[in-house]
Parts: sequence; C-alpha cells; structure tokens
Amino acid sequence: LAETIQAVRRRTLAGVLAEHKLDAFLVSSLPNIRYLSGFTGSNGALLVTPERARLFTDPRYTIQAAEQTDTALTIARGVLWPAVIYTAARLRLRRIAFERGRISFQTHETLKSLLTLGMSLEPAPAWIEEQRMIKSDDEITAIRRSVAVNSAAYHSVLNRIRPGMREFEIAAELEYHMRCAGAEKPAFETIVASGPRTALPHASPTANRVALNQLLLIDMGATCDGYTSDMTRVAAVGKPKPAWRRIYRAVLESQEAAVAAVREGVTCAAVDRTARKTLRAYGLDRAFVHSTGHGLGLEIHELPRIAKSEKTILKAGMVITIEPGAYIEGDCGVRIEDTVLVGKMGCEVLTPTPRDLAAV
Ligand code: ZN
Ligand code: ZN
Repeated sequence: LAETIQAVRRRTLAGVLAEHKLDAFLVSSLPNIRYLSGFTGSNGALLVTPERARLFTDPRYTIQAAEQTDTALTIARGVLWPAVIYTAARLRLRRIAFERGRISFQTHETLKSLLTLGMSLEPAPAWIEEQRMIKSDDEITAIRRSVAVNSAAYHSVLNRIRPGMREFEIAAELEYHMRCAGAEKPAFETIVASGPRTALPHASPTANRVALNQLLLIDMGATCDGYTSDMTRVAAVGKPKPAWRRIYRAVLESQEAAVAAVREGVTCAAVDRTARKTLRAYGLDRAFVHSTGHGLGLEIHELPRIAKSEKTILKAGMVITIEPGAYIEGDCGVRIEDTVLVGKMGCEVLTPTPRDLAAV
C-alpha cells in the first residue's frame, strides 16, 4: 500500500518530535489537522506519535472522517479532550506537545486538568506551519486553480461595474462569479473600496456608491480544494487625477521590483526592503503602512511573512503574495497584489490579471 501524502508529512513531524524528546503532538487547529490527516470537518483533534496517529471527531463526521483520513479514528460525544487524554494515558505518552499559538487559555486549562501522573503539556513552536511553507506539486496545482478562478471572477465583474453601484453589490457579484467558476468560498471577506475609502487598507464593503472619476480598489481571493489565492487590483472609474496616476505608477514600480527580487536564497526582509526603496524614491515610503506580503495555502495568511525584520530565507516551492501599497488619508489608496511561486532562479507570477490601471 502506497504511503499517503499525509503520512509522509506526519513522518516529517515525528522526526521533529524525536529530536525534542516529545512523545506526541496534539494538533488542535483545523488547517494543521487537514494538512496532516486529510480531514476537513469543523471539529477535530489529531494525536500524532512517532509510530501512529489518531483522529478524534464527533458523530456528525463518522462517515466523512473514515473516507478522508488514513489514521485511526475515535468518534467521541461532546468535548473531544477527555477522549484524547484518555488515549494518550493508555498509550503511556508522557510529554505531549501542543500548538502554543493555536489553543485558548481555557482549552489549555481543560487539558491540564485531565492529565494523569507523569504527563505534561509542552508548548511547541510553529513546526507544522514551517513544514507547510514548502508546497507539494498537488498543493501548487490547487493554488494555480484557485488563482485562475479568482481572476476569472474579477474579469467577469470588472466590465459590469458602473458608476452608482454600491460597494457591497460589487463584492456580492465577485463572490457569486467566484463560486460559479468553481470556488468553494471566498478565501476572506472581499474588499471593495471606492473613492477616499481606498485609503483604508482593509476596508469592508459599504453601501457607498461608486462615483465617476474615482479609484476603485478590489482585494479578493478564492478557495479551491481548500487552497487560497489573493489578488488586489485598482481600477479608475472615469478619469483619475494625475496625482493618483503618479501614485499608481510608484506602487506598480515597487511591486514589480519586489517581484523581480523574489528567488530562492533571498531573505524575506530583502524583498520587503526592495519594495520600500522604490516607494522612497517617490516620497511614498511612509504611505506604505503594512508588510510587503505573506505566504498562503490552506490559510490566507501563512508563513513566511514578507516583512522588514523577517530573516526567513525564501525557498523554491513557497507561495507568497507581493502587495505593496500607498495610502493617503482622505484622498486615495493604491495596492497591487499578486500571488507568486518562488523558484530557484526567480519566481513565477501565478496571477494572470494585467497589472495596469484598469479603466471602468
Ligand atoms: Zn489581498
Ligand atoms: Zn494578501
């Protein structure tokens, strides 16, 4: 019987556990459970030991879990933690790692209260998230599909946008077309901002109507086969002010410079620095108030962060976004974002949508 991709991933994790003299890893976050077991339900816990793995879920998922995972399975009623700790005690597991950044204080208290003599909970760093940074061929295929579906939805809606449409209508159209094109759901709440609201980097769509001679910022992503995509584009409704065109040119230059800097062996900080340097030449570096990008995959924000002090070195197989922006309060904001695949000599821009200032 061929080993599943999930089993290979668990074997890698088991190596890390052995290195740190840990007996087991209690995985509680859903994306990590999916990554290591294939299970996509909304309630689960995964106990990984060097020799085996067991998934815990509730009776709603009896059929689904058996279909999706190659691990042993426990169907528990009510809260899963007593069943997990009971199993751990039965297997004489003593040092049990947990995801320090992923569980609540209350869950930690509950787990602690269930431990028997000799057992301890050991906070573990983001080992699984680090493993997830490098995508397999199948993961890259899913991300490519997600990116294609996302851009297709954007193009179907772009030429329907008219002055007078509300931001939330445009967001609804984008999400409708995304789903019609095969997405499971949007990867995050679609951002549609028009006029001065483009200066809010994370604007939620409102009842504002798109007016003539304004900018329109759309930041959207799809989820396909569990994998996300992320793209931001700015369009001009009517005639944009010359000052806005200049800001657009600056952000575009910054984005293209940062994309050109992406390749294996370069630090995330160096890519971030490249984006900022270009904006500084336009006097816009202080208008760039967020980091240059982020990894994506099963989640929309994954490691690595493409930020100022991020020492992580890019490796072939990572999928990241490059998304510099400039925001002028009360006036306008521009961000241009692509999803890119890191390669040995450079990167492949997966996003097929042109980067020029689209006219509506
Ligand atoms: Zn985005
Ligand atoms: Zn993003």
